[in-house]
Amino acid sequence: MDFALFCTRVSVLVLLLALCSPNKFIQSPMDFDPLNLVQTTTTASVDFGRILFNSPSAVLRPQSPRDISMLLVSLSSSSFSKVTVAARGAGHSIHGQAQALDGIVIEMDSLPSNIEIHKRREGETGFSYADVSGGALWMELLEESLKLALAPRSWTDYLYLSIGGTLSNGGISGQTFKYGPQISNVLQLEVVTGEGELVTCSPTKDSELFNAVLGGLGQFGIITRARILLQDAPEKVKWVRAFYDDFHTFSRDQELLLSMPDSVDYLEGFIVLNEQSLHSSSIAFPAHMEFIPDFGTKAHSKVYYCIEFVVHEYQDKGTNADQVVEEISRQMSYMPSQMYTVEVSYFDFLNRVRIEEMSLRRRGLWEVPHPWLNMFVPKSGINQIRDLVMDNISADDFEGPILIYPFLRDKWDTNTSVVLPEAMPGSGEQVIYVIGMLRSANPKSCSGGCLDEILHRNTWLAKTAGEHAGAKQYLAHHPSPSQWTDHFGRHWHRFADRKSRFDPRCILSPGQGIFSRIYASTSSHRC
Ligand code: FAD
Repeated sequence: MDFALFCTRVSVLVLLLALCSPNKFIQSPMDFDPLNLVQTTTTASVDFGRILFNSPSAVLRPQSPRDISMLLVSLSSSSFSKVTVAARGAGHSIHGQAQALDGIVIEMDSLPSNIEIHKRREGETGFSYADVSGGALWMELLEESLKLALAPRSWTDYLYLSIGGTLSNGGISGQTFKYGPQISNVLQLEVVTGEGELVTCSPTKDSELFNAVLGGLGQFGIITRARILLQDAPEKVKWVRAFYDDFHTFSRDQELLLSMPDSVDYLEGFIVLNEQSLHSSSIAFPAHMEFIPDFGTKAHSKVYYCIEFVVHEYQDKGTNADQVVEEISRQMSYMPSQMYTVEVSYFDFLNRVRIEEMSLRRRGLWEVPHPWLNMFVPKSGINQIRDLVMDNISADDFEGPILIYPFLRDKWDTNTSVVLPEAMPGSGEQVIYVIGMLRSANPKSCSGGCLDEILHRNTWLAKTAGEHAGAKQYLAHHPSPSQWTDHFGRHWHRFADRKSRFDPRCILSPGQGIFSRIYASTSSHRC
Protein backbone atom coordinates (compact mmCIF):
# COMPACT_ATOMS: atom_id res chain seq x y z
CA MET A 1 0.00 0.00 0.00
CA ASP A 2 1.52 3.36 -0.93
CA PHE A 3 1.97 6.04 1.70
CA ALA A 4 -0.74 8.37 0.32
CA LEU A 5 -3.33 5.60 0.36
CA PHE A 6 -2.29 4.61 3.88
CA CYS A 7 -2.68 8.22 5.08
CA THR A 8 -6.09 8.51 3.44
CA ARG A 9 -7.30 5.33 5.15
CA VAL A 10 -6.02 6.52 8.51
CA SER A 11 -7.75 9.89 8.06
CA VAL A 12 -11.06 8.29 7.14
CA LEU A 13 -10.81 5.88 10.07
CA VAL A 14 -10.02 8.67 12.54
CA LEU A 15 -12.88 10.72 11.12
CA LEU A 16 -15.31 7.85 11.50
CA LEU A 17 -14.21 7.17 15.05
CA ALA A 18 -14.69 10.84 15.82
CA LEU A 19 -18.17 10.88 14.34
CA CYS A 20 -19.22 7.65 16.09
CA SER A 21 -17.84 8.67 19.46
CA PRO A 22 -20.47 9.49 22.12
CA ASN A 23 -18.71 12.80 22.79
CA LYS A 24 -18.84 13.89 19.20
CA PHE A 25 -16.44 16.69 18.48
CA ILE A 26 -15.15 18.49 15.47
CA GLN A 27 -11.60 17.61 14.60
CA SER A 28 -9.23 20.41 13.93
CA PRO A 29 -7.39 20.08 10.61
CA MET A 30 -4.19 20.13 12.66
CA ASP A 31 -5.16 16.92 14.50
CA PHE A 32 -4.91 14.62 11.52
CA ASP A 33 -4.62 15.65 7.98
CA PRO A 34 -1.54 14.62 6.15
CA LEU A 35 -3.41 14.97 2.83
CA ASN A 36 -5.53 17.96 3.79
CA LEU A 37 -8.49 15.62 3.49
CA VAL A 38 -10.50 16.61 6.50
CA GLN A 39 -10.99 20.04 7.88
CA THR A 40 -13.79 22.06 9.33
CA THR A 41 -15.14 25.25 7.85
CA THR A 42 -18.26 27.29 8.27
CA THR A 43 -18.90 27.69 4.52
CA ALA A 44 -20.35 24.18 4.44
CA SER A 45 -23.31 25.37 6.52
CA VAL A 46 -24.11 28.37 4.30
CA ASP A 47 -25.68 28.48 0.85
CA PHE A 48 -26.97 31.12 -1.56
CA GLY A 49 -30.45 30.90 -0.02
CA ARG A 50 -29.25 32.02 3.44
CA ILE A 51 -32.37 30.46 4.94
CA LEU A 52 -30.97 27.28 6.55
CA PHE A 53 -27.59 26.93 8.29
CA ASN A 54 -27.02 23.26 9.15
CA SER A 55 -23.52 22.55 10.41
CA PRO A 56 -21.76 19.32 9.47
CA SER A 57 -19.45 17.53 11.89
CA ALA A 58 -16.67 17.49 9.35
CA VAL A 59 -15.72 18.51 5.86
CA LEU A 60 -13.84 16.34 3.40
CA ARG A 61 -11.70 17.98 0.74
CA PRO A 62 -10.97 15.07 -1.58
CA GLN A 63 -7.98 15.05 -3.89
CA SER A 64 -9.38 12.24 -6.03
CA PRO A 65 -12.61 10.21 -6.54
CA ARG A 66 -10.87 7.42 -4.64
CA ASP A 67 -10.97 9.53 -1.43
CA ILE A 68 -14.76 9.85 -1.81
CA SER A 69 -15.10 6.17 -2.56
CA MET A 70 -13.15 5.17 0.56
CA LEU A 71 -15.29 7.37 2.78
CA LEU A 72 -18.53 5.91 1.40
CA VAL A 73 -17.28 2.31 1.53
CA SER A 74 -16.48 2.83 5.23
CA LEU A 75 -19.78 4.51 6.08
CA SER A 76 -21.98 2.08 4.18
CA SER A 77 -20.30 -1.00 5.60
CA SER A 78 -20.94 0.01 9.21
CA SER A 79 -24.52 -0.78 10.18
CA PHE A 80 -24.20 1.41 13.31
CA SER A 81 -23.16 4.61 11.55
CA LYS A 82 -25.80 7.32 11.27
CA VAL A 83 -23.47 9.63 9.37
CA THR A 84 -24.83 11.25 6.20
CA VAL A 85 -22.83 12.79 3.37
CA ALA A 86 -23.56 15.73 1.07
CA ALA A 87 -21.54 16.74 -1.96
CA ARG A 88 -21.21 20.51 -2.09
CA GLY A 89 -20.54 22.03 -5.50
CA ALA A 90 -20.69 25.82 -5.45
CA GLY A 91 -23.25 25.90 -2.62
CA HIS A 92 -25.78 27.86 -4.67
CA SER A 93 -28.78 25.96 -3.42
CA ILE A 94 -31.60 27.80 -1.70
CA HIS A 95 -32.86 25.45 1.02
CA GLY A 96 -29.75 23.69 2.41
CA GLN A 97 -29.78 20.96 -0.25
CA ALA A 98 -25.96 20.64 -0.08
CA GLN A 99 -25.84 20.71 3.73
CA ALA A 100 -25.50 17.70 6.07
CA LEU A 101 -26.54 18.36 9.66
CA ASP A 102 -23.95 16.58 11.87
CA GLY A 103 -22.75 14.65 8.82
CA ILE A 104 -19.91 15.12 6.36
CA VAL A 105 -19.86 17.67 3.58
CA ILE A 106 -17.61 16.86 0.63
CA GLU A 107 -16.32 20.04 -0.94
CA MET A 108 -16.13 19.08 -4.59
CA ASP A 109 -14.06 22.10 -5.61
CA SER A 110 -10.99 20.46 -4.07
CA LEU A 111 -10.91 17.84 -6.85
CA PRO A 112 -8.56 18.96 -9.63
CA SER A 113 -10.69 20.35 -12.53
CA ASN A 114 -8.70 18.34 -15.10
CA ILE A 115 -10.53 19.63 -18.16
CA GLU A 116 -9.74 17.62 -21.30
CA ILE A 117 -11.22 18.84 -24.57
CA HIS A 118 -11.67 16.43 -27.49
CA LYS A 119 -12.24 18.35 -30.71
CA ARG A 120 -13.78 16.35 -33.54
CA ARG A 121 -11.51 16.47 -36.58
CA GLU A 122 -12.71 17.31 -40.08
CA GLY A 123 -14.32 14.21 -41.62
CA GLU A 124 -14.38 12.35 -38.26
CA THR A 125 -17.72 10.98 -37.01
CA GLY A 126 -18.96 11.62 -33.46
CA PHE A 127 -18.98 14.78 -31.41
CA SER A 128 -16.59 17.20 -29.78
CA TYR A 129 -16.77 16.84 -26.02
CA ALA A 130 -15.09 17.77 -22.75
CA ASP A 131 -14.20 15.52 -19.81
CA VAL A 132 -14.35 17.58 -16.64
CA SER A 133 -14.44 17.11 -12.87
CA GLY A 134 -17.88 17.20 -11.22
CA GLY A 135 -16.61 19.93 -8.90
CA ALA A 136 -15.47 22.29 -11.69
CA LEU A 137 -17.48 25.39 -12.50
CA TRP A 138 -19.24 25.88 -15.83
CA MET A 139 -17.20 29.07 -16.17
CA GLU A 140 -13.96 27.06 -16.03
CA LEU A 141 -15.27 24.76 -18.76
CA LEU A 142 -16.28 27.74 -20.90
CA GLU A 143 -12.84 29.36 -20.61
CA GLU A 144 -11.04 26.13 -21.47
CA SER A 145 -13.28 25.09 -24.38
CA LEU A 146 -13.23 28.57 -25.96
CA LYS A 147 -9.48 28.17 -26.41
CA LEU A 148 -10.41 25.63 -29.12
CA ALA A 149 -13.40 27.69 -30.36
CA LEU A 150 -15.80 25.21 -28.75
CA ALA A 151 -18.43 25.52 -26.01
CA PRO A 152 -21.15 23.43 -24.34
CA ARG A 153 -24.53 23.69 -26.10
CA SER A 154 -26.77 24.11 -23.07
CA TRP A 155 -26.22 26.53 -20.21
CA THR A 156 -27.52 28.00 -16.99
CA ASP A 157 -27.91 31.78 -16.76
CA TYR A 158 -25.13 31.96 -14.18
CA LEU A 159 -21.82 30.15 -14.73
CA TYR A 160 -20.33 30.01 -11.23
CA LEU A 161 -22.25 26.81 -10.51
CA SER A 162 -20.63 23.38 -10.45
CA ILE A 163 -21.03 20.79 -13.17
CA GLY A 164 -22.17 18.17 -10.63
CA GLY A 165 -24.56 20.60 -8.93
CA THR A 166 -26.51 21.57 -12.06
CA LEU A 167 -26.50 18.01 -13.49
CA SER A 168 -28.08 16.89 -10.21
CA ASN A 169 -30.98 19.25 -10.95
CA GLY A 170 -31.38 19.71 -14.70
CA GLY A 171 -29.61 22.89 -15.75
CA ILE A 172 -31.87 25.19 -17.77
CA SER A 173 -31.54 28.47 -19.63
CA GLY A 174 -32.48 30.06 -22.94
CA GLN A 175 -30.89 27.19 -24.91
CA THR A 176 -33.19 24.57 -23.34
CA PHE A 177 -35.90 25.04 -26.00
CA LYS A 178 -33.34 24.09 -28.67
CA TYR A 179 -30.96 21.55 -27.11
CA GLY A 180 -32.79 20.47 -23.97
CA PRO A 181 -31.45 21.02 -20.44
CA GLN A 182 -27.81 20.36 -19.52
CA ILE A 183 -28.74 16.80 -18.51
CA SER A 184 -29.73 16.14 -22.14
CA ASN A 185 -26.21 17.07 -23.24
CA VAL A 186 -24.11 14.61 -21.24
CA LEU A 187 -22.41 11.62 -22.87
CA GLN A 188 -20.92 9.86 -19.86
CA LEU A 189 -20.51 10.20 -16.09
CA GLU A 190 -18.11 8.89 -13.50
CA VAL A 191 -20.05 8.38 -10.27
CA VAL A 192 -19.30 7.18 -6.72
CA THR A 193 -22.44 5.41 -5.48
CA GLY A 194 -23.70 5.49 -1.89
CA GLU A 195 -21.83 2.23 -1.30
CA GLY A 196 -18.59 3.72 -2.54
CA GLU A 197 -18.46 1.96 -5.90
CA LEU A 198 -16.73 4.04 -8.59
CA VAL A 199 -18.66 3.50 -11.84
CA THR A 200 -18.32 4.95 -15.33
CA CYS A 201 -21.80 5.03 -16.81
CA SER A 202 -23.47 6.24 -20.01
CA PRO A 203 -26.71 5.72 -21.98
CA THR A 204 -25.33 2.31 -23.03
CA LYS A 205 -23.28 1.23 -19.97
CA ASP A 206 -24.85 1.07 -16.50
CA SER A 207 -27.60 3.23 -17.97
CA GLU A 208 -29.86 2.91 -14.91
CA LEU A 209 -27.25 4.67 -12.76
CA PHE A 210 -26.57 7.24 -15.51
CA ASN A 211 -30.26 8.11 -15.78
CA ALA A 212 -30.81 8.04 -12.02
CA VAL A 213 -28.03 10.52 -11.31
CA LEU A 214 -29.11 13.05 -13.97
CA GLY A 215 -31.61 15.30 -12.20
CA GLY A 216 -31.31 12.90 -9.23
CA LEU A 217 -30.87 15.60 -6.54
CA GLY A 218 -27.63 13.98 -5.38
CA GLN A 219 -29.52 10.90 -4.11
CA PHE A 220 -27.82 8.10 -6.05
CA GLY A 221 -24.18 8.97 -6.34
CA ILE A 222 -21.59 11.69 -6.42
CA ILE A 223 -20.61 12.87 -9.88
CA THR A 224 -16.83 13.00 -9.95
CA ARG A 225 -16.45 13.45 -13.72
CA ALA A 226 -18.73 14.27 -16.64
CA ARG A 227 -18.39 14.12 -20.42
CA ILE A 228 -20.16 17.19 -21.83
CA LEU A 229 -21.17 17.61 -25.45
CA LEU A 230 -19.58 20.62 -27.20
CA GLN A 231 -20.36 22.56 -30.36
CA ASP A 232 -18.58 25.25 -32.38
CA ALA A 233 -18.68 28.49 -30.40
CA PRO A 234 -19.78 31.66 -32.19
CA GLU A 235 -17.46 34.65 -31.87
CA LYS A 236 -20.31 37.08 -31.28
CA VAL A 237 -24.04 37.15 -30.74
CA LYS A 238 -26.87 39.53 -31.57
CA TRP A 239 -28.75 39.97 -28.31
CA VAL A 240 -32.31 41.28 -28.64
CA ARG A 241 -34.88 42.56 -26.16
CA ALA A 242 -38.47 43.39 -27.13
CA PHE A 243 -41.08 44.82 -24.76
CA TYR A 244 -44.80 44.06 -24.43
CA ASP A 245 -47.64 45.47 -22.37
CA ASP A 246 -49.84 42.42 -22.78
CA PHE A 247 -49.11 38.89 -21.56
CA HIS A 248 -51.01 37.07 -24.34
CA THR A 249 -49.02 38.80 -27.09
CA PHE A 250 -45.79 38.21 -25.17
CA SER A 251 -46.38 34.46 -24.77
CA ARG A 252 -47.66 34.11 -28.36
CA ASP A 253 -44.42 35.67 -29.61
CA GLN A 254 -42.34 33.49 -27.30
CA GLU A 255 -44.00 30.42 -28.80
CA LEU A 256 -43.38 31.81 -32.28
CA LEU A 257 -39.65 32.01 -31.50
CA LEU A 258 -39.81 28.56 -29.92
CA SER A 259 -40.86 27.26 -33.32
CA MET A 260 -37.72 28.68 -34.99
CA PRO A 261 -34.82 26.65 -33.53
CA ASP A 262 -32.92 26.91 -36.84
CA SER A 263 -32.74 30.70 -36.49
CA VAL A 264 -32.96 31.43 -32.76
CA ASP A 265 -30.15 30.30 -30.44
CA TYR A 266 -31.47 31.46 -27.07
CA LEU A 267 -34.96 32.36 -25.81
CA GLU A 268 -36.02 33.70 -22.43
CA GLY A 269 -38.31 36.42 -21.07
CA PHE A 270 -39.13 38.27 -17.89
CA ILE A 271 -41.74 40.45 -16.24
CA VAL A 272 -40.92 44.14 -15.90
CA LEU A 273 -42.59 44.86 -12.57
CA ASN A 274 -41.27 48.28 -11.65
CA GLU A 275 -38.55 50.89 -12.34
CA GLN A 276 -36.05 48.97 -10.28
CA SER A 277 -36.61 45.71 -12.18
CA LEU A 278 -36.21 47.56 -15.49
CA HIS A 279 -32.99 49.12 -14.25
CA SER A 280 -31.41 45.97 -12.78
CA SER A 281 -32.27 43.85 -15.82
CA SER A 282 -30.51 46.46 -18.01
CA ILE A 283 -27.16 46.43 -16.17
CA ALA A 284 -25.67 43.71 -18.34
CA PHE A 285 -27.50 44.71 -21.54
CA PRO A 286 -25.41 47.49 -23.07
CA ALA A 287 -28.07 49.23 -25.17
CA HIS A 288 -29.34 52.76 -24.84
CA MET A 289 -33.02 52.13 -24.20
CA GLU A 290 -35.71 54.70 -24.69
CA PHE A 291 -38.40 52.76 -22.92
CA ILE A 292 -40.21 54.88 -20.33
CA PRO A 293 -43.04 52.70 -19.08
CA ASP A 294 -45.98 53.92 -17.02
CA PHE A 295 -46.25 51.55 -14.07
CA GLY A 296 -49.57 53.10 -12.96
CA THR A 297 -50.48 53.66 -9.34
CA LYS A 298 -50.22 51.47 -6.25
CA ALA A 299 -53.95 50.69 -6.54
CA HIS A 300 -53.83 50.10 -10.31
CA SER A 301 -50.34 48.94 -11.14
CA LYS A 302 -49.35 48.00 -14.65
CA VAL A 303 -46.60 45.59 -15.62
CA TYR A 304 -44.71 44.91 -18.84
CA TYR A 305 -42.99 41.88 -20.34
CA CYS A 306 -39.71 41.49 -22.14
CA ILE A 307 -38.69 38.76 -24.60
CA GLU A 308 -35.00 38.17 -24.82
CA PHE A 309 -33.54 36.24 -27.72
CA VAL A 310 -30.13 35.72 -29.30
CA VAL A 311 -28.79 34.83 -32.73
CA HIS A 312 -25.23 33.47 -32.97
CA GLU A 313 -22.80 35.06 -35.40
CA TYR A 314 -20.10 32.83 -36.94
CA GLN A 315 -17.58 34.74 -39.05
CA ASP A 316 -16.20 31.67 -40.84
CA LYS A 317 -19.66 30.28 -41.65
CA GLY A 318 -20.71 33.54 -43.31
CA THR A 319 -23.89 33.90 -41.22
CA ASN A 320 -25.68 37.21 -41.29
CA ALA A 321 -27.17 37.55 -37.82
CA ASP A 322 -28.54 41.07 -38.55
CA GLN A 323 -30.62 39.70 -41.39
CA VAL A 324 -31.87 36.79 -39.26
CA VAL A 325 -32.88 39.17 -36.45
CA GLU A 326 -34.69 41.38 -38.94
CA GLU A 327 -36.61 38.46 -40.45
CA ILE A 328 -37.64 37.19 -37.03
CA SER A 329 -38.64 40.59 -35.66
CA ARG A 330 -40.86 41.31 -38.67
CA GLN A 331 -43.10 38.49 -37.49
CA MET A 332 -43.27 39.69 -33.87
CA SER A 333 -45.86 41.98 -32.27
CA TYR A 334 -43.92 43.93 -29.63
CA MET A 335 -44.80 47.50 -28.57
CA PRO A 336 -44.03 50.00 -31.37
CA SER A 337 -40.28 50.85 -31.46
CA GLN A 338 -39.64 48.86 -28.31
CA MET A 339 -37.08 46.43 -29.65
CA TYR A 340 -33.36 46.81 -28.91
CA THR A 341 -30.42 44.88 -30.38
CA VAL A 342 -26.80 44.82 -29.28
CA GLU A 343 -23.79 42.88 -30.47
CA VAL A 344 -21.58 41.36 -27.76
CA SER A 345 -18.96 38.64 -27.58
CA TYR A 346 -20.29 35.15 -26.88
CA PHE A 347 -18.32 35.08 -23.63
CA ASP A 348 -19.81 38.36 -22.39
CA PHE A 349 -23.30 37.19 -23.26
CA LEU A 350 -22.93 33.92 -21.36
CA ASN A 351 -21.32 35.71 -18.42
CA ARG A 352 -24.05 38.38 -18.18
CA VAL A 353 -25.29 37.47 -14.68
CA ARG A 354 -21.78 37.99 -13.28
CA ILE A 355 -22.15 41.70 -14.09
CA GLU A 356 -25.42 41.79 -12.13
CA GLU A 357 -23.71 39.90 -9.29
CA MET A 358 -20.94 42.49 -9.12
CA SER A 359 -23.46 45.30 -9.00
CA LEU A 360 -25.47 43.58 -6.24
CA ARG A 361 -22.29 42.82 -4.27
CA ARG A 362 -21.26 46.47 -4.42
CA ARG A 363 -24.64 47.40 -2.93
CA GLY A 364 -24.48 44.66 -0.26
CA LEU A 365 -27.42 42.86 -1.87
CA TRP A 366 -25.83 39.55 -2.92
CA GLU A 367 -25.33 37.90 0.46
CA VAL A 368 -28.93 38.28 1.60
CA PRO A 369 -31.68 35.65 1.94
CA HIS A 370 -33.09 34.40 -1.37
CA PRO A 371 -36.55 32.85 -1.00
CA TRP A 372 -36.68 31.66 -4.63
CA LEU A 373 -39.48 29.66 -6.19
CA ASN A 374 -39.12 27.97 -9.60
CA MET A 375 -41.97 26.11 -11.25
CA PHE A 376 -42.56 24.22 -14.49
CA VAL A 377 -46.06 25.03 -15.72
CA PRO A 378 -47.79 23.30 -18.66
CA LYS A 379 -48.88 25.71 -21.41
CA SER A 380 -52.55 25.00 -20.63
CA GLY A 381 -52.07 26.56 -17.17
CA ILE A 382 -49.72 29.43 -17.87
CA ASN A 383 -52.34 32.23 -17.95
CA GLN A 384 -53.88 31.03 -14.70
CA ILE A 385 -50.51 30.71 -12.96
CA ARG A 386 -49.34 34.10 -14.20
CA ASP A 387 -52.49 35.60 -12.62
CA LEU A 388 -51.90 33.65 -9.42
CA VAL A 389 -48.32 34.91 -9.20
CA MET A 390 -49.32 38.51 -9.88
CA ASP A 391 -52.11 38.34 -7.27
CA ASN A 392 -49.61 37.16 -4.68
CA ILE A 393 -46.86 39.71 -5.04
CA SER A 394 -46.75 43.41 -4.67
CA ALA A 395 -45.27 44.83 -7.89
CA ASP A 396 -43.75 47.87 -6.22
CA ASP A 397 -41.72 46.08 -3.55
CA PHE A 398 -40.72 42.80 -5.25
CA GLU A 399 -36.92 42.74 -5.50
CA GLY A 400 -35.35 40.46 -8.11
CA PRO A 401 -36.32 39.15 -11.54
CA ILE A 402 -39.36 37.04 -12.46
CA LEU A 403 -38.38 34.91 -15.45
CA ILE A 404 -40.94 33.29 -17.76
CA TYR A 405 -39.99 31.30 -20.83
CA PRO A 406 -41.08 28.18 -22.70
CA PHE A 407 -39.32 24.99 -23.71
CA LEU A 408 -40.36 21.71 -25.30
CA ARG A 409 -41.12 18.53 -23.39
CA ASP A 410 -39.53 16.24 -25.94
CA LYS A 411 -36.08 17.80 -25.39
CA TRP A 412 -36.04 16.09 -21.96
CA ASP A 413 -35.22 12.43 -21.50
CA THR A 414 -37.97 10.85 -19.40
CA ASN A 415 -35.58 8.13 -18.18
CA THR A 416 -33.69 10.67 -16.05
CA SER A 417 -34.88 11.49 -12.53
CA VAL A 418 -36.33 14.95 -13.28
CA VAL A 419 -40.11 15.28 -13.15
CA LEU A 420 -41.98 17.51 -15.57
CA PRO A 421 -45.70 18.36 -15.39
CA GLU A 422 -47.82 15.57 -16.86
CA ALA A 423 -49.32 16.26 -20.30
CA MET A 424 -53.13 16.48 -20.30
CA PRO A 425 -54.37 13.04 -21.46
CA GLY A 426 -54.72 13.02 -25.23
CA SER A 427 -53.52 16.63 -25.59
CA GLY A 428 -49.99 15.86 -26.78
CA GLU A 429 -49.12 19.18 -25.15
CA GLN A 430 -45.45 19.88 -25.81
CA VAL A 431 -44.91 23.37 -24.45
CA ILE A 432 -43.93 23.86 -20.81
CA TYR A 433 -43.12 27.24 -19.24
CA VAL A 434 -40.65 27.88 -16.48
CA ILE A 435 -41.57 30.62 -14.00
CA GLY A 436 -38.68 31.69 -11.79
CA MET A 437 -39.53 34.07 -8.94
CA LEU A 438 -35.94 34.94 -8.02
CA ARG A 439 -36.59 37.11 -5.04
CA SER A 440 -34.06 38.79 -2.73
CA ALA A 441 -35.12 39.53 0.83
CA ASN A 442 -33.10 42.63 1.57
CA PRO A 443 -32.93 42.79 5.40
CA LYS A 444 -33.33 46.58 5.21
CA SER A 445 -36.81 46.31 3.71
CA CYS A 446 -37.70 42.75 4.75
CA SER A 447 -37.26 42.27 8.49
CA GLY A 448 -39.22 40.69 11.33
CA GLY A 449 -41.40 37.88 10.06
CA CYS A 450 -41.13 39.08 6.45
CA LEU A 451 -38.89 36.22 5.24
CA ASP A 452 -41.11 33.57 6.88
CA GLU A 453 -44.14 35.19 5.31
CA ILE A 454 -42.54 34.98 1.83
CA LEU A 455 -41.56 31.34 2.41
CA HIS A 456 -45.11 30.45 3.50
CA ARG A 457 -46.52 32.25 0.48
CA ASN A 458 -44.14 30.33 -1.81
CA THR A 459 -45.22 27.00 -0.31
CA TRP A 460 -48.85 27.92 -0.83
CA LEU A 461 -48.22 29.16 -4.39
CA ALA A 462 -46.40 25.95 -5.37
CA LYS A 463 -49.15 23.79 -3.86
CA THR A 464 -51.93 25.76 -5.52
CA ALA A 465 -50.14 25.81 -8.89
CA GLY A 466 -49.72 22.05 -8.58
CA GLU A 467 -53.38 21.41 -7.74
CA HIS A 468 -54.86 23.81 -10.30
CA ALA A 469 -52.49 23.54 -13.24
CA GLY A 470 -50.34 20.45 -12.66
CA ALA A 471 -47.22 22.60 -12.10
CA LYS A 472 -44.08 20.99 -10.65
CA GLN A 473 -41.38 22.73 -8.69
CA TYR A 474 -37.92 22.94 -10.27
CA LEU A 475 -35.02 22.97 -7.73
CA ALA A 476 -37.81 21.73 -5.51
CA HIS A 477 -38.08 22.14 -1.78
CA HIS A 478 -40.67 20.10 0.12
CA PRO A 479 -40.99 20.19 3.89
CA SER A 480 -41.89 16.49 4.31
CA PRO A 481 -41.15 13.13 2.61
CA SER A 482 -44.86 12.65 1.78
CA GLN A 483 -44.79 15.84 -0.31
CA TRP A 484 -41.83 14.41 -2.20
CA THR A 485 -43.96 11.36 -3.00
CA ASP A 486 -46.58 13.71 -4.50
CA HIS A 487 -43.86 15.63 -6.33
CA PHE A 488 -42.65 12.51 -8.12
CA GLY A 489 -46.19 11.21 -8.71
CA ARG A 490 -46.18 8.11 -10.91
CA HIS A 491 -42.35 8.22 -10.98
CA TRP A 492 -42.02 7.85 -7.20
CA HIS A 493 -41.56 4.07 -7.24
CA ARG A 494 -38.79 4.30 -9.81
CA PHE A 495 -37.05 7.00 -7.73
CA ALA A 496 -37.36 4.95 -4.50
CA ASP A 497 -36.19 1.75 -6.24
CA ARG A 498 -33.16 3.55 -7.59
CA LYS A 499 -32.39 4.75 -4.06
CA SER A 500 -32.53 1.18 -2.70
CA ARG A 501 -30.21 0.08 -5.45
CA PHE A 502 -27.56 2.82 -5.46
CA ASP A 503 -27.65 4.23 -1.92
CA PRO A 504 -29.46 1.59 0.17
CA ARG A 505 -28.45 3.10 3.52
CA CYS A 506 -29.63 6.58 2.46
CA ILE A 507 -26.34 8.26 3.18
CA LEU A 508 -26.33 10.79 0.34
CA SER A 509 -27.72 14.32 0.12
CA PRO A 510 -29.74 14.47 3.38
CA GLY A 511 -30.38 18.20 2.82
CA GLN A 512 -33.01 17.39 0.19
CA GLY A 513 -35.16 15.87 2.97
CA ILE A 514 -36.45 13.00 0.82
CA PHE A 515 -35.19 9.89 2.66
CA SER A 516 -34.07 9.06 6.22
CA ARG A 517 -30.76 7.40 7.03
CA ILE A 518 -30.90 3.63 7.64
CA TYR A 519 -28.78 2.19 10.46
CA ALA A 520 -28.87 -0.79 12.85
CA SER A 521 -31.68 0.37 15.13
CA THR A 522 -34.03 1.81 12.48
CA SER A 523 -37.02 -0.48 12.11
CA SER A 524 -37.19 -0.19 8.33
CA HIS A 525 -34.70 -1.73 5.92
CA ARG A 526 -35.72 0.70 3.20
CA CYS A 527 -35.09 4.42 3.35
P1 FAD B 1 -24.90 22.81 -4.67
O1 FAD B 1 -25.81 23.83 -4.09
O2 FAD B 1 -23.55 22.73 -4.13
O3 FAD B 1 -25.60 21.36 -4.61
C1 FAD B 1 -26.93 21.17 -5.06
C2 FAD B 1 -27.34 19.71 -4.87
O4 FAD B 1 -26.57 18.88 -5.72
C3 FAD B 1 -27.11 19.19 -3.46
O5 FAD B 1 -28.10 18.23 -3.17
C4 FAD B 1 -25.75 18.54 -3.54
O6 FAD B 1 -25.57 17.54 -2.57
C5 FAD B 1 -25.79 17.96 -4.95
N1 FAD B 1 -24.48 17.92 -5.57
C6 FAD B 1 -23.57 18.91 -5.69
N2 FAD B 1 -22.51 18.48 -6.37
C7 FAD B 1 -22.74 17.19 -6.69
C8 FAD B 1 -22.02 16.19 -7.38
N3 FAD B 1 -20.83 16.42 -7.88
N4 FAD B 1 -22.58 14.97 -7.51
C9 FAD B 1 -23.81 14.70 -7.00
N5 FAD B 1 -24.54 15.60 -6.33
C10 FAD B 1 -24.01 16.84 -6.18
N6 FAD B 1 -30.30 26.70 -12.30
C11 FAD B 1 -30.66 26.50 -13.58
O7 FAD B 1 -31.04 25.40 -13.95
N7 FAD B 1 -30.61 27.53 -14.48
C12 FAD B 1 -30.16 28.75 -14.15
O8 FAD B 1 -30.11 29.64 -14.98
C13 FAD B 1 -29.74 28.97 -12.81
N8 FAD B 1 -29.26 30.17 -12.43
C14 FAD B 1 -28.86 30.35 -11.14
C15 FAD B 1 -28.34 31.59 -10.77
C16 FAD B 1 -27.92 31.80 -9.48
C17 FAD B 1 -27.37 33.15 -9.09
C18 FAD B 1 -28.06 30.77 -8.52
C19 FAD B 1 -27.67 31.01 -7.10
C20 FAD B 1 -28.58 29.54 -8.87
C21 FAD B 1 -28.98 29.32 -10.19
N9 FAD B 1 -29.50 28.09 -10.60
C22 FAD B 1 -29.86 27.90 -11.90
C23 FAD B 1 -29.71 27.00 -9.66
C24 FAD B 1 -28.55 26.05 -9.65
O9 FAD B 1 -28.49 25.30 -10.85
C25 FAD B 1 -28.69 25.04 -8.51
O10 FAD B 1 -28.84 25.68 -7.29
C26 FAD B 1 -27.47 24.13 -8.48
O11 FAD B 1 -27.66 23.14 -7.51
C27 FAD B 1 -26.29 24.95 -8.09
O12 FAD B 1 -25.10 24.23 -8.29
P2 FAD B 1 -24.10 24.15 -7.10
O13 FAD B 1 -22.85 23.63 -7.65
O14 FAD B 1 -24.05 25.41 -6.35
O15 FAD B 1 -24.85 23.01 -6.24
